[in-house]
Amino acid sequence: MEHLRIPGPTPCPSEALQAMARQMINHRGGEFGQILNKVTANLKQLFQTKGDVFLLTSSGTGGLEAAIVNTLSPGDKVLSVSIGVFGERFATIAQEFGAEVIPLSFEWGQAADVDAVRQALKAEPKIKAVLVTHNETSTGVTNDLASISSIVKEFDKLLLVDAISSLGSINLPVDDWHCDVTVTGSQKGWMAPPGLAMVSVSQEAWQAHAKAKMPRFYWDFAQAKSYLEKGQTPWTPAISTVFALSVSLEMMLKEGLPNIIARHARVGKAARAGVKSLGLPLFADENYASNTVTAAASSNGLDTKKMLKILREEYQIVLGGGQQRLDGKIFRIGHLGWVTEGDIETVISALNIVLPQAGFRS
Ligand SMILES: *Cc1c(COP(=O)(O)O)cnc(C)c1O
Repeated sequence: MEHLRIPGPTPCPSEALQAMARQMINHRGGEFGQILNKVTANLKQLFQTKGDVFLLTSSGTGGLEAAIVNTLSPGDKVLSVSIGVFGERFATIAQEFGAEVIPLSFEWGQAADVDAVRQALKAEPKIKAVLVTHNETSTGVTNDLASISSIVKEFDKLLLVDAISSLGSINLPVDDWHCDVTVTGSQKGWMAPPGLAMVSVSQEAWQAHAKAKMPRFYWDFAQAKSYLEKGQTPWTPAISTVFALSVSLEMMLKEGLPNIIARHARVGKAARAGVKSLGLPLFADENYASNTVTAAASSNGLDTKKMLKILREEYQIVLGGGQQRLDGKIFRIGHLGWVTEGDIETVISALNIVLPQAGFRS
């Protein structure tokens, strides 16, 4: 069996995979309605929200676009708090739809400086919304979202959160932290295949929606809400992925959110300790290191591409490389969803053998 240890897609338990082998059902019929209602209720528990939660048939990026077009108008000023590739992507989407993006970018590997967020909001009172990545998958850093959110709300701004690789794995109480739109994706911590973005929408986000003028059709939250009242989605959903997600959510609730969060904390700690025991530096500031993805910096002659190839071909272990300007400079171990400390031990033991074969001198 292949050990898929990238930060999404992630391995799925066989119960979830088997659910996908089911025959299709009518997405406008009663049975699908029951499944959708149950999935939505279960997601609300795991999002820790009493607000609306919708399933959108898309990858996570579609959910990010939905967050933008449902709450903003062209010309709106938005503060983009970015610490890596996915923070840049969120800002690019806003820009493409005509928002005036004010960038607040931090060195990759570091978390956002909360005080700088306050200064930026103070400097430009016309900012309407703040875009932030909770867990930056490209660098393995988790932002202090609780502190960022309290500042954003002090200034009474909308908070749009890319929680694609954190929700369901790392604590993110959506209501307590006043997240207005929170986005995640089925193939990250949810033990399900790709195909669904899941989004929460707060009351404040609905107020913004009423005035937002960016073009929207497929992503319109108002359509999602009116159809959900009938147990449907506006457009044909990824039915098989919904089947799988319904099973994985039951498994998650059985384990319990606090236990899931604690398991990811243990697994994250094991990954960081393992990387350090190999003599490799962590890429992320360890005070903000992610519990869902660990980035290791290449050093001491290590050829990460060669290393990834040997791991893949000889150990059936698939890790992630670096994205964009981190290509060849780091590698990443994904540890979210269906993962245990044993899975990390497997990776670290193989790395112990493979590193010297890939040029690493300890
Ligand atoms: C994976 C990921 C995305 C992109 O999601 P897709 O499902 O590939 O569209 C965006 N942001 C973060 C933080 C991610 O981890």
